[in-house]
Formats: sequence, C-alpha cells, structure tokens
Amino acid sequence: MRDIWIIAENLPWAGTLAAGAASIGKGAKIVAFVNGDEAEAKAVIAQGAAEAFYLPLPAAAPWEGYAPALAEKAKADKPALILLSTSRRCRDVAAQLAAVLDAPCFSEGKNIVLTESGASVETMLYGGLAVKSSSVSAETVLVTVGAKDFEPLPADASRSGPVGTLPLAAGPVAVVGRKPRAAQTVDLAAAVKVVGVGRGVAEEGDLAIVRDLAEALGAEVGCSRPIAEFFKWMPEECYIGISGQQIKPQLYVAVGISGQAQHYFGIRDAKTIVSINKDKESLMNQNADYFIAADWKAVVPELIKAVRGA
Ligand SMILES: Cc1cc2nc3c(=O)[nH]c(=O)nc-3n(C[C@H](O)[C@H](O)[C@H](O)COP(=O)(O)OP(=O)(O)OC[C@H]3O[C@@H](n4cnc5c(N)ncnc54)[C@H](O)[C@@H]3O)c2cc1C
Repeated sequence: MRDIWIIAENLPWAGTLAAGAASIGKGAKIVAFVNGDEAEAKAVIAQGAAEAFYLPLPAAAPWEGYAPALAEKAKADKPALILLSTSRRCRDVAAQLAAVLDAPCFSEGKNIVLTESGASVETMLYGGLAVKSSSVSAETVLVTVGAKDFEPLPADASRSGPVGTLPLAAGPVAVVGRKPRAAQTVDLAAAVKVVGVGRGVAEEGDLAIVRDLAEALGAEVGCSRPIAEFFKWMPEECYIGISGQQIKPQLYVAVGISGQAQHYFGIRDAKTIVSINKDKESLMNQNADYFIAADWKAVVPELIKAVRGA
C-alpha cells in the first residue's frame, strides 16, 4: 500500500490525523509534516507516524510557503492520501497542493475509505442537512479533517523514525509582524460539560443566570452563533456549530436554542443533550435526550437550586 501523509497545524492535530491515517490505511506508512520543531516531529512519530518532517513557522514569511516543497515531494512520493487539519493554514496548503498535483480535495471529509483507484469520502451539504458520498479515481486524494474526528493513539516514546525538514519557498507574501490573538476565554473543545446560550435568552443581563447554572454544574458556557456574531455578548470563540466550535462534552445543556442544523452539527457528539426551550416542537427539544418545554427563566433558577442542593 502507498504512503499516507498527514499535514498538521499543531501537535494535537497531528495526533488526530495520525490516528485517522492508521485507521484508514491499515499498514500504510504514515509520513507526517507538522508545524513546529524537531521535538514536535519526534512526538508525532511517538503517536504513530513512521517518518516526520517539522516545518517551523518562518519569521518573515507565511507558513503556507512550504506548499511548493510539499508539492514537489508529493509528486515524487505519490502518497495515496493526504490528510490535513482544517485550520486556515492547512486549508490553504490543501488548495495549493490540489492545484499543483491536479488532485481531488475534500473539505472536512468523513468515513474516508481508500479504494483500488482512489478513495471514497463523505462530506456535508447544505450546512449539515445532507451527506454526500463521493468516489474518486486519482493517484493522490486530499482530505481536510476536523480536530476531533479521530481519537489520538497513546504516545509510545520508544518509537523512532527519520526526522527532517523541508525548504521554504520564497513567495510574494512577506510577513511584517505577528501578534498573539486575545486569549481565548474558554476551551470548549476540552470541556466535559457545556451550557449553551441561545437567542431565547433575550437580555444580555440574563447571561448571569445562565452562568450561575454553568457554575453549579461545573460547566463552561458556549452559545449559538447570533449571540456571539450579531449581539457580541460573548467572544466569537464561544459559538458552537458548523462554522464555530465542534464539541464533544459529556453533557450539553441548551438554553433557548432552536437547534438548527448548523448549531446541532457542533454538538451532535455530546453524550447527553438537555434542551430548555419553550417551543416543545423546536428541533433542539426534538433532538435532545431530555427536554423541558418551558420558559428558561422559570426553569433555570430551579435547576440551579436542585444542582446545588444535590
Ligand atoms: C452558513 C451558515 C452557518 C451557520 N453556522 C452556525 C453555527 O456554527 N452555529 C450556530 O449556532 N448557528 C449557525 N448558523 C445560524 C443558524 O442557522 C441559526 O440561525 C442559529 O443557530 C439560531 O440561533 P438560536 O437558536 O440562538 O436562535 P433562534 O433560532 O432564534 O432560537 C431561539 C429559540 O429560543 C426559544 N425561546 C425563546 N424564548 C424562550 C424562553 N423564554 N424560554 C425558552 N426558550 C425560548 C425559541 O423557541 C427558539 O427555539 C449558521 C447559519 C448559516 C446560514
């Protein structure tokens, strides 16, 4: 079987992709390319890659400047599959590689299966309302993969393999400065419990009541897109859904959220979903494990009392 490549923005994502590559191409050699230094490359080998290349963030050029070297290597090595993280940088690299290699590229592919002539991949349509199954014949197939799509394998420090790097092409874009993003207030992706705020919480001041519930439950607070993007009540990192965070908590409590497909996509892997929505027929209630069809303002204070008393 031909090699499977993984190209990752960071080490945790490389672990996810390595686990994905191992499950898709049982027995295939996994070659990793990871943003970072030699230590990162070695860590990906510990997580399942046979060989790893580190691609340090250049001081005065974009990281995507490694794409020409990656394309040259892919032309020579002809990997059957290239899995990339869905981060902005890797999506840019995916597009460049697909263009240079004249290869099919799938965004956020699922259920990836290697076939004799190429691969079959599932992707979402209409904001998650439908799933499209595609089969392609191609020497190399590219697929971007979400950060949580595969469970990373435990690291085995005794594993070893060749480590290298690739040259950076001089491109037309120069980086004149970088500044860190404002610190993210919550790590929803890692949260065990999340309470989600929707437009049913009509007043910004009422967020405090929902935060009390989250505190009682030991949960983080997330929201639907309008709360972050239109009302600006919470940072954009806090909205959950197809274009926001995709989370996998043990418990998700949706407060005043209608549960449109674009939001549900981000919580569909939650173990238990509880919805509080006054509209009994709302999608959120219908798709929840438990729902309370009532005004959240009547329910949430009682829940807080019950949880604190328990
Ligand atoms: C391309 C695209 C991408 C998108 N991506 C995302 C995404 O990533 N994440 C996301 O969240 N959205 C996304 N959206 C928007 C999405 O389609 C919905 O519009 C959005 O999720 C609705 O947010 P909501 O549930 O908070 O508001 P609403 O749909 O307005 O729902 C509010 C709910 O609150 C209930 N309610 C009202 N008052 C009360 C009360 N007092 N007590 C209890 N319940 C009450 C209502 O019955 C209603 O069901 C996207 C849309 C598009 C087109």
